[in-house]
Amino acid sequence: MKFTIAIHGGAGNINPQNYTPEDIKVYEEKLKESLNAGFNILQGGGNAIDAVVASVKVMEDSPLFNAGVGGVFANNAMVELDACIMDGKTLNAGGVTSVHKIKNPIEGALRVMEDSPHTLLSGNGAELFAYKQGLELVPNKHFHTKKRYDQFKKAQEKKKIMVDHSMGTVGAVAMDKQGNLAAATSTGGMTNKFYGRVSDTSIVGAGNYANNKTCAISGTGTGDQFIKTVFAYDISAQMEFASKTLEEAGKISLQKLAEIKGHGGFIGIDRKGNIQMDFNCSGMFRGFKNESENFVAIFKGD
Ligand code: ASP
Repeated sequence: MKFTIAIHGGAGNINPQNYTPEDIKVYEEKLKESLNAGFNILQGGGNAIDAVVASVKVMEDSPLFNAGVGGVFANNAMVELDACIMDGKTLNAGGVTSVHKIKNPIEGALRVMEDSPHTLLSGNGAELFAYKQGLELVPNKHFHTKKRYDQFKKAQEKKKIMVDHSMGTVGAVAMDKQGNLAAATSTGGMTNKFYGRVSDTSIVGAGNYANNKTCAISGTGTGDQFIKTVFAYDISAQMEFASKTLEEAGKISLQKLAEIKGHGGFIGIDRKGNIQMDFNCSGMFRGFKNESENFVAIFKGD
């Protein structure tokens, strides 16, 4: 059976003139490292859940992306993190939101899915649960970077919530050798967001969804519109109830997003292992890998 992993590291106002060739190389190398982490698990016969967690963790640990280390600051000068994971075989899902201390929020989401009767845990409760599960907790400073702090200060001066700085949410979708699908997504949200704001990333069906009947989706962009259009589930529902292909459904959902002034993109995989990576903005850090192809790209038209 064919197996594939696809990843993204955020979509948005990503233009070639803002990146040096060295910057591009650094991003591409990290995307490849993330793809390899998931691919190696799939190749060894591991399941899609473990693969998407491994890929997301590489990007959470990198300061290049708005997830884990390098997450953006909320208006309380803290990095507040959200993550969600979903198993397409069982429709089991788990998420954490507004957490400050879980070193790898995607592992928190995984534990919620596997070891709790709940689907989404927030704040202190999520952190206590993660601690009891033996996950590593770190001081919030662990996630801080100068670049994000400077962006936060600028946003505060302008009294704005900066969507542009949100670029860098990370996600992965995969199909394993058994044909099972999974999706995982992790974010710091938006610069200067009101603390306690919940992202699409942590909400099943908004920024993250997987169902073996249809597809696995991980989204990135202006999350509030992803919540309002129930973006990731909308793609799946069109495939299930209107016989759309992943590509057709994705285009329609991106159009619905644009109609309410939302922008961003998604990566998706259908039950045959077809990959779709589409966005309605200027760029998306993205890539996929299977036994015959290995692709990474950043800008439109790449
Ligand atoms: N969707 C994320 C959020 O709204 C941000 C992003 O994808 O960059 O929190």
